[in-house]
Amino acid sequence: MNRNRKRRRRRRAAFGTYIMLIVSLLLLIGGVTMVVENWTASVQAAWNLETSDVSEDDWQRILVNRWHPIPENYMPELTELWNGESVDIRIYPDLQEMFDNARAAGLEPSVSSGYRTHQAQQSLMDQEIADYISRGYSEGEAKEMAEQWVAIPGTSEHQIGLAVDISVEDGSGQAASDVWQWLRENSYKYGFILRYPEDKTDITGISYEPWHYRYVGKETAEEIYRQGVCLEEYLK
Ligand SMILES: [Zn+2]
Repeated sequence: MNRNRKRRRRRRAAFGTYIMLIVSLLLLIGGVTMVVENWTASVQAAWNLETSDVSEDDWQRILVNRWHPIPENYMPELTELWNGESVDIRIYPDLQEMFDNARAAGLEPSVSSGYRTHQAQQSLMDQEIADYISRGYSEGEAKEMAEQWVAIPGTSEHQIGLAVDISVEDGSGQAASDVWQWLRENSYKYGFILRYPEDKTDITGISYEPWHYRYVGKETAEEIYRQGVCLEEYLK
């Protein structure tokens, strides 16, 4: 064998190795992409399971906000309060106990808004938008501002019967802020959380609402209270 042929064969062998290397690299990238995609899909599935599918014992922690609308066909079983408002029947005993103890502390709380139908939520939104328009805002601005205060229909916790707006009894002469102060410190003992805290508006998508309380069950409420997080953060 002469030298030239040897060199050519060596060059051909080197070329083959390069091709093999490139093919392996491409396969590796493909494999990694598939693994990452599968992982993302499974995380997504777990998230959906946690937030949308309402299992029998997970109803207390259902996440409803502008990014997580109420699952279709969600129908709470309601019970009516003495003033005509209603709530999910499962939260009634704890709500009653919370109010009893607030009264024992000399306060006179009252549920000013409990369960709302989709229609009622829509009317509330339409009214809020009309208010902003009457104050000189454009339709687009009015809508944007209204959505800071009123949940978009289909995304309100009032529509699942687990939220209550709490004020004071008419004619009691009390300041609602005294009731809110008491609730802020005690509501977790009865399974309720301040749902839209002042420092979490970016995460909840709703402005600070000292009157809006959400039932999540005693265990979850205590953890949320102690950790100083909002429901979105807790569920993550
Ligand atoms: Zn509310």
